[in-house]
Amino acid sequence: MGLNVSEKIKSLIKNKHFPHTVIIEGEKETVLKLAEDTAKGILCLNSDYFCGECKNCHLADINNHPDLKIISTEKKNYLVEDIRDLRKEAFLTPFIANSRIFIITESEKLSDKCQNSLLKILEEPPKNVYFILLTQNSASFLNTVLSRAVLFSVLNTEESEFDNTVKNIFSLAVNKNRVGILEILSGLKQREEIEKLILKIKDYAIYLLKLKQEQNIGKNLNFNETDIKNTALTKERLYGIIEKLDGIFKVLDFNLNVLLLNCAVCNALT
Ligand SMILES: [Zn+2]
Repeated sequence: MGLNVSEKIKSLIKNKHFPHTVIIEGEKETVLKLAEDTAKGILCLNSDYFCGECKNCHLADINNHPDLKIISTEKKNYLVEDIRDLRKEAFLTPFIANSRIFIITESEKLSDKCQNSLLKILEEPPKNVYFILLTQNSASFLNTVLSRAVLFSVLNTEESEFDNTVKNIFSLAVNKNRVGILEILSGLKQREEIEKLILKIKDYAIYLLKLKQEQNIGKNLNFNETDIKNTALTKERLYGIIEKLDGIFKVLDFNLNVLLLNCAVCNALT
């Protein structure tokens, strides 16, 4: 988890192509550690990433580097003044390093007003200044901010892969493609995996019902292409899927073999 992202970041620093603004999305502690390592990587005097031994690395390690600022707030939201101060500070020349770095933690606490204030500096960032915005959910950013930044996500990728599998299964269900569905299901050998999948399929069916309802009243906030395509399933079929999955869940205790379970799930979907 997160390994690919740190590799990518390393190579951007090494090739001196690090973008002036990045967003790192993921769990609070994970993204902070990654951002601190990134900052050291940019500031380090010795190596392509960080050596951990030079003056810059050392000062960053003890949270005392004058060119590295980590911004956080105990409050529910950042104040516009916080961002205004940051903007002023970003124009100062670096004290001891060649660049200045600002890490904003918990960026989901940036109101639209704060983001618009921040945008002013992201649009024309001073030379050698880097902004690293941390968030647990990049959807909280305005599109204007997102378009100025390179986004790295270190959310649990295994989990999102599983979600994608569920979406694919539904795309196949739209076309009643039993072979395709069975092919995916046959990749699951563990009972726990199948049980988890059944729950996820049910959740997604309920989600699609909600989405269809929103579409009906013209209030559609989801723009995911796959989700939109999957709303081709009628309400009746979605209710049918949920009902049949509930039925399967009731007999799970009987220790049905995996093949039989897969067939039952496939039947529920088609
Ligand atoms: Zn160093």
